Amino acid sequence: MVRLHKSAIRVTDISGQYWCERQMELHHLFGRKITKEIKAGRKMHEALENESNAPVALEPRSYADYLYKQLYTGGLGIATMEKSGLTREIPVYGSINGYKLVGKIDQLNVGPNKEVIITENKVRTNDKSPSDAQIESNKIQLLFYKKMMDDIQSGSYTSENFKRSYGTNTLKVTEEFVRQINALGVRKEMQSIDAVADFFFKSVANMGKVGDDIVLKYVNQFTGETIKMCTLKYDSGEMSRASDYVMKYWRGERESLPVPESEKWKCNICMFFGKECKVWWPQNEADRN
Ligand code: SF4
Repeated sequence: MVRLHKSAIRVTDISGQYWCERQMELHHLFGRKITKEIKAGRKMHEALENESNAPVALEPRSYADYLYKQLYTGGLGIATMEKSGLTREIPVYGSINGYKLVGKIDQLNVGPNKEVIITENKVRTNDKSPSDAQIESNKIQLLFYKKMMDDIQSGSYTSENFKRSYGTNTLKVTEEFVRQINALGVRKEMQSIDAVADFFFKSVANMGKVGDDIVLKYVNQFTGETIKMCTLKYDSGEMSRASDYVMKYWRGERESLPVPESEKWKCNICMFFGKECKVWWPQNEADRN
């Protein structure tokens, strides 16, 4: 955590560990190349969010402003779901072995039996079905989101845990941001991080129970067509094995692992191959050509 200058583990980092842990680490150390797939993904998420959630005109000027905006829009998004049955881009906070855990859920919707369903939307540049390795890595993300939501709903991770862990008593939103939230009509008593944290955690705790069905949806970025949709079941045993595995890395008990030989095909599409990572780089020049 110190070496990667991180104060919280992102759920997307954990998903990255399941693709290639060494690659996830190198992304943090050397920066991430913003590929056209990543750009397309961001565009799609933005478009989907605007389609389901009312846009909130807030321009954060500091970390405290940013945190406020996340909690406020998250709470509003959940209220939207209660009315329309669907919301998108909901932040989620939690803890894993005492480490801060943070993520953003692509989509929450109310299912036919009134339980809330978590969906992760992934864009692809063609109609090819995702590989099993891709599905596995994306599924881990969903397992963690479900566990984090369960922890909030069961009271294992509360607003008070959040406030302690983020030191909210020392955070104050900027004057410019107060002007913006005043313009939105946010009540005076809701203008602190503590108050907005209470609002957000209460909204999650009181929404419908998050069900065991978790959904992965792959969409073609150009046509908007669904390529593949997988409805998977949350399994607490699988979640706890995943948590044990990933935490050995974050606690510094082991170095980051490269992909095993059976998955070295992933190296051919990795920006670090042959440069920062030579684990599977052919030793012999003839094999490289
Ligand atoms: S080159 Fe291969 S092993 Fe190395 S970081 Fe990339 S995917 Fe992982």
